[in-house]
Amino acid sequence: MFDVIVVGSGPTGLMLAGELRLHGVDVLVLDKEAEPTRQSRAQGLHVRSIEVMAQRGLLERFLELGQQIAVGGFFAGLAKAWPERLDTAHSYVLAIPQQVTERLLTEHAAEAGTEIRRGCEVVGLSQDEDSVTVELADGEELRARYVVGCDGGRSAVRKLLGVAFPGEPSRVETLLGEMELTAAQEELTAVTAEVRKTQLRFGAMPLGDGVFRVIVPAEGVAEDRATAPTLDEFKERLRAIAGTDFGAHSPRWLSRFGDATRQAERYRVDRVFLAGDAAHIHPPTGGQGLNLGIQDAFNLGWKLAAAVAGWAPEGLLDSYHAERHPVATDVLDNTRAQIQLMSTEPGAQAVRRLLAELVEFDDVNRYLIEKITAISVRYDFGEGDELLGRRMRDLELKQGRLYERMHEGRGLLLDQTGRLSVGGWADRVDHVVEVSEELDVPAVLLRPDGHVAWVGEDQQELLAHLPTWFGAATG
Ligand SMILES: Cc1cc2nc3c(=O)[nH]c(=O)nc-3n(C[C@H](O)[C@H](O)[C@H](O)COP(=O)(O)OP(=O)(O)OC[C@H]3O[C@@H](n4cnc5c(N)ncnc54)[C@H](O)[C@@H]3O)c2cc1C
Repeated sequence: MFDVIVVGSGPTGLMLAGELRLHGVDVLVLDKEAEPTRQSRAQGLHVRSIEVMAQRGLLERFLELGQQIAVGGFFAGLAKAWPERLDTAHSYVLAIPQQVTERLLTEHAAEAGTEIRRGCEVVGLSQDEDSVTVELADGEELRARYVVGCDGGRSAVRKLLGVAFPGEPSRVETLLGEMELTAAQEELTAVTAEVRKTQLRFGAMPLGDGVFRVIVPAEGVAEDRATAPTLDEFKERLRAIAGTDFGAHSPRWLSRFGDATRQAERYRVDRVFLAGDAAHIHPPTGGQGLNLGIQDAFNLGWKLAAAVAGWAPEGLLDSYHAERHPVATDVLDNTRAQIQLMSTEPGAQAVRRLLAELVEFDDVNRYLIEKITAISVRYDFGEGDELLGRRMRDLELKQGRLYERMHEGRGLLLDQTGRLSVGGWADRVDHVVEVSEELDVPAVLLRPDGHVAWVGEDQQELLAHLPTWFGAATG
């Protein structure tokens, strides 16, 4: 029996597997596809995901293959520059195709000892008090103590659990693909600029070697979105919208996506969890879906590892839904708002013009970018200091950078007083004294995901908080 079976080797499943292996959890990843996908839907990582990679010592390899950009336009495509002084040491978008992100996360998970089995489609699921059994399409059965469905928007795990997925169906559909274009760059630039005055779901981004990433609105909503469009369909839509098909030929891959917006009602049913697109889908506006999935995995990984190790306090596994469900609800809402703002209806255009004026205020721009980049996420840990429930940014410590101290995924007490002790939790929580001039509170307790679990200076208060996140003391 495995400790954990992760269904799906997309970014969410891979991130989760890496997190679980960090704590020695025996994890098996299953994916129905025989080969990794060649398609790249997502094009980048936002600040919080970049920070997550830094917290696990993975950022260097992402920086090597990505491009750091500080562009604006992330909220509904509003042309506004990236705000200055974002509260992070990583104030940029990391442009990196999803395919590369998946490759790097696969490498990391494999280096950490994860077994990934491809060509294994999960078609059945049952659980009892002690374990979960998954059934594969070829009839094989596998057991684990926990299962996590990271199997994308059409999640079989979610359906097998009978978890409701309420929301709105797709009303518009967009074609997306990579192909060669023969048109001259001047023509492409001029036509694209003209079309985008009224149609923001249109573009041709050069990828090098004459290959472009092209998006264009589909005619209707396909009954079966899993079926890829043909090149002819793509060219016909380009002609309909832009008056030319730019001489499109030699497609690398073609796909379609909708604007359905849905969220799983529950992220946990006993021993089975949902994460990433399996738990929430929304239009790609603002580029948030992959990021959200990575951050779901980052929240769930250490908690599941604690349960496997036997020290998870009461309620820790339930805190996954409690913390992550509201975050995705907010993302769904901001994508709904962005879609409205991108509508060509006169009323929506008027609201867009008004918002374009408002983002000129630095606070408004900052508020929206902090939302898209997920650095303003605050989990509800009750009343307390402004830092409580937020992730701690990457401080410059006297002993190096904060995130460098977090590679092993343990708790961390940052203690400016020098008087505190983590007592019987030293096997799960590190203790750093004389921390940093950047930290303007006496002490903070960080969870393995870097969120602030306690702020204070009183030893008894600290000892009262440690069990909430780290279980019973040892020794
Ligand atoms: C056009 C477009 C652009 C986007 N751009 C961005 C962006 O810029 N930034 C961003 O953050 N997000 C973006 N997204 C969203 C992003 O692509 C998804 O949110 C992300 O892929 C979700 O990752 P996941 O691991 O949860 O699911 P998936 O990537 O869907 O992976 C699920 C995996 O599960 C496997 N699987 C499915 N069913 C089974 C089964 N029954 N048994 C075994 N395995 C199974 C699949 O083969 C797949 O490998 C975009 C999406 C689209 C459509």
